[in-house]
Amino acid sequence: MTRTRSLDCPTCQGMQLFRLLNREEKAAVRAERGERLPVDNLWRCTAEGCLTYYPHLRKTRGLLLPERFRLTAGETGGTEGGGGTAGA
Ligand SMILES: [Zn+2]
Repeated sequence: MTRTRSLDCPTCQGMQLFRLLNREEKAAVRAERGERLPVDNLWRCTAEGCLTYYPHLRKTRGLLLPERFRLTAGETGGTEGGGGTAGA
């Protein structure tokens, strides 16, 4: 199940399709910002090349996922990462 919704992206400057962070993205955010950070309601922009994420209902500027989560054409649109190779 992939949940998406249209939210205003401060980086793309317009409405974009956002989806909840996947497991790898949540882990990366926690590694950066602290293990106790609530990550279950964080949404990321799925526009090509955009790394913006923020808590739903609390739009924040300047929150960016690590570079490795940058989406390329073909990965956009909220496809769920398999995660099978995590930690390999
Ligand atoms: Zn964006």
